[in-house]
Amino acid sequence: MAAIDHAFSVEGLTKTYGDGPSKVYALRGLDLRLPRGELVVLLGPSGCGKSTLLNILGGLDAPTSGRVLFGDAELTAHSDRELTRYRRDHVGFVFQFYNLIPSLTALENVMLVTDIAPNPMPAEDALALVGLQARMHHFPAQLSGGEQQRVAIARAIAKQPTVLLCDEPTGALDSTTGIVVLQALSDANRRLNTTTLVITHNAGIAEMADRVLYMADGRISDTRINTHPLSASDLSW
Ligand code: ADP
Ligand code: MG
Repeated sequence: MAAIDHAFSVEGLTKTYGDGPSKVYALRGLDLRLPRGELVVLLGPSGCGKSTLLNILGGLDAPTSGRVLFGDAELTAHSDRELTRYRRDHVGFVFQFYNLIPSLTALENVMLVTDIAPNPMPAEDALALVGLQARMHHFPAQLSGGEQQRVAIARAIAKQPTVLLCDEPTGALDSTTGIVVLQALSDANRRLNTTTLVITHNAGIAEMADRVLYMADGRISDTRINTHPLSASDLSW
C-alpha cells in the first residue's frame, strides 16, 4: 500500500516519560493510517495518550521509538528545523484554551498567521468561514468563549493547512456553543479538504466523524467508519 495515499502512516510508535520505577508509557507501539481529507474523531479516557499522539503528529514532540510518515516524508527523521517548517507550512492546531492575543482584534489575531504562511487565504475569509465576519474588529474580551474558539479555528485554517489537529476543542464550552464550534471545524474540513483530527472524551461527538478511532492504554484499540456522518447540529450530548 502506498504511504502517499495517507496523510499519516504511523508504525510502532512508543513514547515514554522518565526512567526507572517512575517510567510512564504514554504510547505503546501504536499503529495508524489516516486517509487524506477525512474528519477523524479520536476517543479515549484521560491519560490514554491522545495528546501525546497529537503532539507527535503535529511535530511538537518526538517519539521514543517508531515511525511517522506525513505523506511520504518521514517526520521522525526530520531535524528540529525541518519540523518547524513542517508545522508552519502544513499544520493548524486548535487547543482547549484559545490562546488569542488579548491586545489584538480577531482579524489581527488571524493576520499573525496569514502574514507569514506561504499559501494563506485572506484573514477575512477565514473569519467568514467560521461565521464571524461581523465580529472581526472585536477584541477577545468582547467575544464569548465559543466565538473566541472560532477565532482560534479561523487562525488555524487561514494558512490552508494540510492537517488540522484539535485537542479537546470543545472542552471548555457548553454543548450549544460546542456544536457551533464543531460545525465550524466540519465546514472547514469539507471546504478545504483538510485532514482533521479531533480529540475528545465526549463520545457523542463521534457521530459527526468519517472515522472514529478508539484509544486505550497507548494504542488504537478499535476503528469505526461512519458511512453517514451526522451534521454537528444533529449531535446530542
Ligand atoms: P490524554 O491526552 O489521553 O489524556 P496524554 O497523552 O496527555 O493523555 O498522557 C498520556 C500519559 O503520559 C499519561 O499517563 C500522562 O500522565 C503521561 N504524560 C504526558 N505528558 C507527560 C510529561 N511531560 N511528563 C510525564 N508524563 C507525561
Ligand atoms: Mg489530552
